[in-house]
Amino acid sequence: MTSFAQVFRPELANAEDMTQFHSDEYIEFLRMITPDNQHEHMRQLKRFNVAEDCPVFDGLFNFTQIYTGGSIGGAVRLNHKLADTVINWAGGLHHAKKAEASGFCYVNDIVLAILELLKVHSRVLYIDIDIHHGDGVEEAFYTTDRVMTASFHKFGEYFPGTGHLQDVGQHQGKYYSVNVPLKDGIDDETYDHLFKPIMEKIMEVFAPDAIVFQSGADSLSGDRLGCFNLSIRGHAECLKYMSTFNVPLLVLGGGGYTIRNVARCWTYETGCLLGRELEDVLPANDYSEYFGPTNTLHITPSNMENQNTREYIDGIRNRILENLSKLPARPGAPFYQVPPDLVSAQTQDMNIEPDLSEGEDRGGIYLDYGKNEDDFRVTKNVSEPVGTNPQGKEDAEKDMNENKEKSQELPDKDDI
Ligand SMILES: [Zn+2]
Repeated sequence: MTSFAQVFRPELANAEDMTQFHSDEYIEFLRMITPDNQHEHMRQLKRFNVAEDCPVFDGLFNFTQIYTGGSIGGAVRLNHKLADTVINWAGGLHHAKKAEASGFCYVNDIVLAILELLKVHSRVLYIDIDIHHGDGVEEAFYTTDRVMTASFHKFGEYFPGTGHLQDVGQHQGKYYSVNVPLKDGIDDETYDHLFKPIMEKIMEVFAPDAIVFQSGADSLSGDRLGCFNLSIRGHAECLKYMSTFNVPLLVLGGGGYTIRNVARCWTYETGCLLGRELEDVLPANDYSEYFGPTNTLHITPSNMENQNTREYIDGIRNRILENLSKLPARPGAPFYQVPPDLVSAQTQDMNIEPDLSEGEDRGGIYLDYGKNEDDFRVTKNVSEPVGTNPQGKEDAEKDMNENKEKSQELPDKDDI
């Protein structure tokens, strides 16, 4: 597939990049903690929740640098219109908080990538189809109307415990947080019945000019920690649907605990984004062991009970659509001065490595289209990523004059 996409090795994110969201103390701690010295820092380990699900391991900080660099670097490419879709399957660590690790997430690459996108985009939509609530991202943007978060997740006696239907955001951000709480066993048809109408409405009322999509694979049938019953096609349908809006798209990974199915899911979804329907029989390759024991791409959902009744699903769908209809049409988002890029300021000089088989330590795979637009559905309208909302652009210009002081402060970690 690499012949249809461009593959880049992103710059590593550094501590300064990370403190655009995280606290200085927390990042300094991640930088210095090692398995050998951790016994000397028991108080901080507890304070920053680096324990149990979030253990210290050799190379921890470097790990965060790699996946975070992929996401921020991807946002930089979208900002510069060097790509219309970017994938970083290593990213999507949605639970990390400003000064706290959570659920094997240490640095929140998603929040950092969204902050980067906000430098040149008026409104960013964040979508999360991981089975767990996207709590870290929601919390970061809970009071702003420039980022809408939409999380579809298992709710009720399940980690991390947040994401109630009635959690809709606060202050300026009221109704800009969308939570879709689901029960065990949701299947493709039921998921589709919720996802598309909600997203259609969000695209209409919020009209984002960039989308970040967390494609956690633990919502698949048969996940070791999950309890949903989605097929890979059902999971991918969400991503395919969002790609039809022709808005710049950053696609990230996330959870997934039946590893062979994570590999299947993200392989299939990479094909979808390239406009390629992959055959069900996987060709032998260097990574076949990750897909074993069978060599077929798709999985069969189980016969588990779907506890999400039609009444339940219709109820939450109607409630969410009602909330969304209360939003003002396309909030203006003024720009005063575009801040410089974070990581990968020299993005354009990045290494192009078309041969994946020789590479190691991939922090991110960037798909960049444009060699032959007609070949790829996702390349449509690349030259006008904000063209979907000309009125919003005008609003932004109008508000720019009225709100110069405010806009000078954006984005600022203290404001989110
Ligand atoms: Zn998860």
